[in-house]
Amino acid sequence: MKLVSFDGGRIGAVAPQGLIDLSDLAEVAADFWPPVGMSRIIAGFDALRPEIEDRLRTGEGRPLDTVRLGPPIPWPNKVIAFPANYHAHIDEMRAVGRLVSRAPASGQGFFLKANSSLSGPADPILLPPIAGREIHHEGELGVVIGKGGRAIRADRWAEHVFGYTCLLDMVVRGKEERVMRKSFDSFCPTGPWIVTADEVPDPANIGLVLTVNGDPRQSASTRDLIVDIPSMVAMASSVMTLHPGDIIASGTPAGVAAVKAGDVVEIAIEHVGAMRLDVREAAIGDHQVWHVGKEVES
Ligand code: MN
Repeated sequence: MKLVSFDGGRIGAVAPQGLIDLSDLAEVAADFWPPVGMSRIIAGFDALRPEIEDRLRTGEGRPLDTVRLGPPIPWPNKVIAFPANYHAHIDEMRAVGRLVSRAPASGQGFFLKANSSLSGPADPILLPPIAGREIHHEGELGVVIGKGGRAIRADRWAEHVFGYTCLLDMVVRGKEERVMRKSFDSFCPTGPWIVTADEVPDPANIGLVLTVNGDPRQSASTRDLIVDIPSMVAMASSVMTLHPGDIIASGTPAGVAAVKAGDVVEIAIEHVGAMRLDVREAAIGDHQVWHVGKEVES
């Protein structure tokens, strides 16, 4: 099943005959703020599933291209992200002196991205106008938590993963705090939908491809993850309670590189989906913090 957020706060599922509206099942109005409808659908999914499946069989669909898709989960409790989680990416970062920590994700843990950096498949990536800085794409598999919990054992991971989505972990390269460099608005595109876990036969062996203007940049399989999905769930939940709708960015493979305004970034993940994102320069986003200790041209 493919679940989407669309037209502001509406929620739907994608059927062969088109988009089926499920907004009423969230029990919060589509224009309710904060937009927690999808989180509620995920939390109540086991009970809602028969009704959703019935609507998918019998409902009248509308064409997907007549709506504006948003980030599937616009208001998660948290976005957890694993750095340096593919050996080949660690090697490329070390080669250019960008790897601060010596330890890969297995000995380094995870960080958080601001939830407000989430954007959807119809939204452009907005580059803050920071002179002299590269802003890189990191294509990643997004893992969506279903049933929450604390201290989840790795061998129980499948009971807690609701589904998967395409995710980009955009980042300003530099030595400032990682959360700041990765949390600009639009720096966490997700979508185009959440595909439920039952549609992904083996999440430990799915391909991810990222292109920029049609040129291949990143190509990998989740079989090369250092910290695999079960271990990510275990590690994250050893620290914090996971809640329905939490998103885990699973780390990026080799091939990260700068993007510039006018580029088109496309990410495609096997069994999950694909999305195409325009890159534009934002009018705002610069601050003196990016230039402290560096020569600034006037
Ligand atoms: Mn990343």
